[in-house]
Amino acid sequence: MRTSYDVVIVGGGHNGLVAAAYLARAGRSVLLLERGPHTGGAAVSERVFPEFDARLSRYSYLVSLLPRRIVEDLGLRFATRRRRISSYTPVGSAGLLVDTGDSARTRESFRRLTGSDADFRAWERFYGMTGRLAERVFPTLTEPLPTRDELRSVIADSETWEAIFERPLGETIERDFADDTVRGVVLTDALIGTFTHAHDPSLRQNRCFLYHVIGGGTGDWDVPIGGMGALTDALATAARAAGAEILVDSAVQAIETDGRTAEVRFAGGTVGARHVLVNAAPHEMARLLGDSAPPKPEGAQLKVNMLLNRLPRLRDDVDPRAAFAGTFHIAESYSQLERAYRDAEAGSAPALPPSEIYCHTLTDPSILGPELTARGMHTLTLFGLHTPARLFAEDHDRVKRDVLDATLAALDSVLAEPIRDCLATDSAGRSCLEARSPLDLEQEVGLPGGHIFHGDLSFPYRTDDDPDPAARWGVRTEHRNVFRCGAGTVRGGGVSGIGGHNAALAVLESR
Ligand SMILES: Cc1cc2nc3c(=O)[nH]c(=O)nc-3n(C[C@H](O)[C@H](O)[C@H](O)COP(=O)(O)OP(=O)(O)OC[C@H]3O[C@@H](n4cnc5c(N)ncnc54)[C@H](O)[C@@H]3O)c2cc1C
Repeated sequence: MRTSYDVVIVGGGHNGLVAAAYLARAGRSVLLLERGPHTGGAAVSERVFPEFDARLSRYSYLVSLLPRRIVEDLGLRFATRRRRISSYTPVGSAGLLVDTGDSARTRESFRRLTGSDADFRAWERFYGMTGRLAERVFPTLTEPLPTRDELRSVIADSETWEAIFERPLGETIERDFADDTVRGVVLTDALIGTFTHAHDPSLRQNRCFLYHVIGGGTGDWDVPIGGMGALTDALATAARAAGAEILVDSAVQAIETDGRTAEVRFAGGTVGARHVLVNAAPHEMARLLGDSAPPKPEGAQLKVNMLLNRLPRLRDDVDPRAAFAGTFHIAESYSQLERAYRDAEAGSAPALPPSEIYCHTLTDPSILGPELTARGMHTLTLFGLHTPARLFAEDHDRVKRDVLDATLAALDSVLAEPIRDCLATDSAGRSCLEARSPLDLEQEVGLPGGHIFHGDLSFPYRTDDDPDPAARWGVRTEHRNVFRCGAGTVRGGGVSGIGGHNAALAVLESR
């Protein structure tokens, strides 16, 4: 290890690794310091149930926002696979199936649920609109930030601009769709990782929705082959191969800077740097710099990982292999989402917790060892909504147990057999089921408040004309040589590498 580097990166999440790889390839000396025992942050694969050879994407699980260009620039051996079934939403003993490869089948499913073609036609119009938005906005995310006016001209459609950037999304959903279930399926993309409601005047829900429908220029959410760890392992390999040094078990304790050079104090000593990139969340960054901290963000999800002996049968006659391959919505109608939000906002766990699940192994069996595959085993990932960190503040374990029980009861209500009967058990008789509250994620992954995006997302445009590279790339802090480099950058949320890419380009443009 040297005493000083061109760039020190605080945090080895996927964005820190992307920045390390770009900068090392550009000839900069780079040291990356990761707090935990391995790199990857919230994008890792782990053997969650040690007796079973199943490498689950423990936290994040689907990829949409990672630009092809980053994969190619860094020569990553990493690929994703498209899911043909986009979503399935059980309703009573029937359900709404969205099959992207068969429009007639989707129309028939809408007709059976709603009694007409009106919502199907509205669906096609609406997602035609988001598809055009995706094509235009996604390429801008890896360029210097446009101004608001520039982005509006790129989108070149005043109705779309109004719906996404100006008015609460609930207005558009209620105008365009009549059915409560269909409205709910549309709204979920505005609520994943964001504790809010359809009519929030701050438009937090619109910002969350935007990033959920523009990824890859299509808005598709694909399965990472080999799990999320395959991506972050490939990134760490690329960064090391280019000469970056990576130290784990090396929590950074403080950053001192005069704006030209910096000193980074960490568990293993102190090191100098021309630039410091902070992949840790902005709240943690403020603590390290001794700046006044922004309000602590608050995550609101319950993440559940399961290993199954078999997929459960459904009440509907749909094949479970179709239903669970896409995003399977539970208690996520528009009115159920609203009720759950109101419960949680008033301080109680939702009586009927909304959630969505998906089965990785239906699309990519490579995360299971051959013996488990031969036995017909599967993984299930559940992401529960509207359970904010504050609910768990007192009596954490009891609240988590209660929320998990209520979430699984909601799932059971649409199954023909209880999910617990399908779980694998280990040699001690323990079910292969783990649940993580926002507070667990704070502790395990270092996400302040358990917020999966490090804080609320921002619209992808700039609000000033500061010519500084860090401002142009959306990675600015109060210090000229310290940049954000993660989900907390202007366009950084999700597994995208965009925060790391943009921080690296800001360094390369800086004098
Ligand atoms: C349960 C869950 C499900 C999700 N699902 C998806 C999904 O399916 N698809 C998707 O696109 N996104 C998803 N997300 C969001 C996505 O995972 C994050 O937005 C993304 O991982 C952010 O990456 P990052 O590199 O910016 O930060 P992180 O992954 O948070 O990594 C930051 C790193 O910094 C380290 N660190 C923190 N403080 C210090 C310190 N003082 N010193 C040294 N190191 C430090 C941490 O240990 C961590 O490794 C999910 C997130 C969670 C938690």
